[in-house]
Amino acid sequence: MFAAHFAAALAIKTREPRAPVTALVIGAFVPDIIWVALAVAGVEPAAKATFFDDWSHSLCMVALWAALYAACFVASRGWPVAIAAGAAVLSHFVLDFPIHPKPLALFPYSRVRLSLGLSNVPAMTYWYVQMAVVLALLAVYAWQGARLRVPASRLTQSCAMVLALHLVMLP
Ligand SMILES: [Zn+2]
Repeated sequence: MFAAHFAAALAIKTREPRAPVTALVIGAFVPDIIWVALAVAGVEPAAKATFFDDWSHSLCMVALWAALYAACFVASRGWPVAIAAGAAVLSHFVLDFPIHPKPLALFPYSRVRLSLGLSNVPAMTYWYVQMAVVLALLAVYAWQGARLRVPASRLTQSCAMVLALHLVMLP
């Protein structure tokens, strides 16, 4: 999921408007940022045969990353913003969980794999599944945003940007 992570950050923004949107977007990508860093370091190989992402993407590790990321905001922004930032990190796991290159682990090297068994769906099916998730999250964003009196132009721009991002990912 790529565009869906942006959409999740926007949806969370409407739950806690005081949270900076950049903090939520970065939060929604924390496991991928860590994954890229660990891939470069050779700890989490990205090649299909040796693919490994337990340190960046397993449930327990994502919970830990979420707690650490949230902790960065407690002193400066208070608990509600910190919780929103942590929720953004957790949303990454929720969105990656249904379909992922390799089923996500409970914790690093755990034999327990969390999966819906959809890991090998065709790219086009995956794209449609993501589209449905993106639309659902953007609907939450637009609906809650309108309730919070976010200008319609900003809601439309944000939704259009996320949809455009997903369209360029068309396989
Ligand atoms: Zn990911």
